[in-house]
Amino acid sequence: MCDIADEASELIQRTLDVALQNRQRPAIEFTGKCHYCEEAISKGSFCSKECGEDYQKVERAKQFKGAA
Ligand SMILES: [Zn+2]
Repeated sequence: MCDIADEASELIQRTLDVALQNRQRPAIEFTGKCHYCEEAISKGSFCSKECGEDYQKVERAKQFKGAA
């Protein structure tokens, strides 16, 4: 009985995650520095995957504060 609801909410969550990723990516400009820790980089937006993930967490937290 619950399986359909679980699948639906999981699908919605996945769709939201993809939408968030697609929306955030073009907004990040190349500045020559990591957007999170400001380490100098030659390409991309972050010096490491971890910085990218942390940056997204901060951005998401900002969005939640703005909506509240
Ligand atoms: Zn960094």
